[in-house]
Order: sequence, then structure tokens, then C-alpha cells
Amino acid sequence: MSVSGRNRIGRHLLSIGDLDRAAIERILDRAESFAEVAGREIKKVPALRGRTVVNLFYESSTRTSSSFELAAKRLSADVVSVRSVGSSVDKGESLKDTVQTLSAYDPAAIVIRSPRVGAAQLVAGWTAASVINAGDGKHEHPTQALLDAFTLRRRLGALDGARIWIVGDVLHSRVARSNILAFRQMGARVTLCGPPTLIPRGIEALGCETTATLARLPEADVVYVLRMQHERMRDSFVPTLREYASRYQITSARLKPGQLLMHPGPVNRGVEISGEAIDSPQALIGAQVKAGVAVRMAVLYELLVGAPHLAAVA
Ligand code: ASP
Repeated sequence: MSVSGRNRIGRHLLSIGDLDRAAIERILDRAESFAEVAGREIKKVPALRGRTVVNLFYESSTRTSSSFELAAKRLSADVVSVRSVGSSVDKGESLKDTVQTLSAYDPAAIVIRSPRVGAAQLVAGWTAASVINAGDGKHEHPTQALLDAFTLRRRLGALDGARIWIVGDVLHSRVARSNILAFRQMGARVTLCGPPTLIPRGIEALGCETTATLARLPEADVVYVLRMQHERMRDSFVPTLREYASRYQITSARLKPGQLLMHPGPVNRGVEISGEAIDSPQALIGAQVKAGVAVRMAVLYELLVGAPHLAAVA
């Protein structure tokens, strides 16, 4: 969110990088209250009645698109979902023209996923709506980081001092970038593990450490596994997937009892993670998906209803 002070929540959520800890906690606290709505028979609150949310997805998505749609609907917004396949984007309409067309509906928010780094930032310059980055290339995926922080805070009480290992293809992962920032803000210690070809040079500047082997994995409280992002790979970064799996695949045998296992999905069973590890009681993957709805409700609410920048202009 563009933040103009501490604990300030701006008009957009473009990057986790400008949220301080208080702003993150505020969103997570709000998400707790919306998680309660999910337990009701009628899972709806009137907060966004009469307002429109546009979901614009230029890249494949299952969890993020469905949970944003559900989140907006549970807040009683009118929702328009546009996917590049089957829309005029297919016919070559530019991002700018598409945003300007959809802005004619006077949306309160535009949720955008794009394969291009910086797309959400650009959209924010073309519309009066609040813009939420639902993933821009390999850059950032801030709502994923918030829902992961929410899931861990619920499970651990707090992230302070938690040792979180992020294992796999960090180089192509927007989740890694947003999660390192969010986990660090929340007081966790982050270690990145993967083949050196898949760990970006200089990433330690974000306040994490790196290692090329799983040797110290037993010291982790949380093991966060990343997918091999084949769609973003132009070269071959590992000799073979079989060799990658033998060195880095997270299996039940490699996990210590009590370690928590996370993955943003979609998973490649048998590549970065084994089937039995996914299905083990240590896995929080289902809880992460569930948290997605409450956290995205909280983000929409904070941007469109609860944010101090609105109070300032009211
Ligand atoms: N779903 C996440 C993303 O959109 C992670 C992944 O695709 O591996 O970045």
C-alpha cells in the first residue's frame, strides 16, 4: 500500500514493502473478524454494498482469483471478473485501454494479475480506483504474504523469532519476495534454500540468509516450499528435475515432527514436495487457502472503507 506514515494504509496495495508492522497487524486483525463471517450460515456483510470490484487476470490463477471474487462478494460488492482468455485482451487490446474501458464502470477497486513486473503500479496511474496487486511477474504478490502471515500468526501466536525456511525456486518467485518482507516485518528469521542458480544474487539485502543444502533444515520451525516456476524459465536452471527432487524435495522423511509445512500452490507433487508431505497433518496448505478469503476481504475493506486516507478526505 502506498503509505504516507506509520500504520497508514494508502489507496493501493502494490507491494508489501511499504507496509510497516503495525499496518500488517491491522490487516491481520481485520481478517480475524472476517474469518468469523466464514463460519456463519449467511457469509455476507454489507460493507461494500453498491460498490464495484473488477478482477483483471492476465495470467492463470485458481486460488487468488476465486478468493478475491469470493471476498468481494462476501462484502456485498458487485464483481466483474475479466480473464485475458476470452476477453478483448485476446484481440490485442492494451492493458491501458482495457483499464480505461473497465474504469467506465466506476469501480472502487481493480485487482490485477499480470505476467509483467510493475503492471499494478502502471494501472494505479490510469484509474481512480484502488489497485490491488494480485501478482506482477516475478516481482510481488502481497496478498499471498499477508495470508501466509495470518496463517502462521494463528498457528504460532506470533512470528517473532520463528525460523522460516523458504525452499525452492526463489529466483522466479514473487511469493518469495513478498513473503521475505512480510515475515521479516513480523519478526521472523528467514533462510532461503535452493540451488545457487535459483537464489537471486544479493537477496540477503532483504534481511535473510541463504544456503544451498537442506543440511540445517531441522532448525526450521516452518518450511515454506516454492514451486518450480517453469513458465518463467528461459534457461535450464537445474540439471534435471529428478536431481532437483533428490536434493531439495521436501518429504515427510526430511521433516522433523512439529515443523509446519506451507506452499502457496499450485503444487507439483513429486517435484518440490512429495505427495505424503502435502497430505500430512504438518501441512497448512488448506489453512492458507482458507485464509485467502478473509485476508482479501480485509484488504478490500481497509482500502475502501477503513483506511485513514479516506477519513482525511471525508
Ligand atoms: N500461486 C503463486 C503465484 O501466483 C505461486 C505459484 O504460482 O507458484 O505466484
